Amino acid sequence: MISRGPAAMQLGRVRASLLDFYITESDELIVEPVSGSSLREEHVEILIAWARTVGYERIWLPDQVVDIEAEPAIVGVAKVNCRTCGAHWEDSSTDFWLKVRDNGFFPASCPACGDSLPEMTVDAEQARLTH
Ligand SMILES: [Zn+2]
Repeated sequence: MISRGPAAMQLGRVRASLLDFYITESDELIVEPVSGSSLREEHVEILIAWARTVGYERIWLPDQVVDIEAEPAIVGVAKVNCRTCGAHWEDSSTDFWLKVRDNGFFPASCPACGDSLPEMTVDAEQARLTH
């Protein structure tokens, strides 16, 4: 990590939690803060909600282990806009959710340009109206 100079001052203002994720053979998620970072309290519930959405049933946090109640197979319409090419992606199909649950994460790259995608957001209400 950067520890000196203007870059370090900027990094000190970051309100994010920088985390490494490890997946066990039994599909449990282990979360470790990157050196110099920590899991901020305001991010714990967001992280647990994300883990539930992508199918983890247990998450190991730095100071606690959380058993997660499984969600139904289809939880909503997942959406994202590619910041590089501007393409809009959304999916709520059974195949999409089965793949997300199998992988343990949303698609990481844009099918159009190949660049990395931001995390998808899920609109659960829209799925209830269309299914
Ligand atoms: Zn793209």
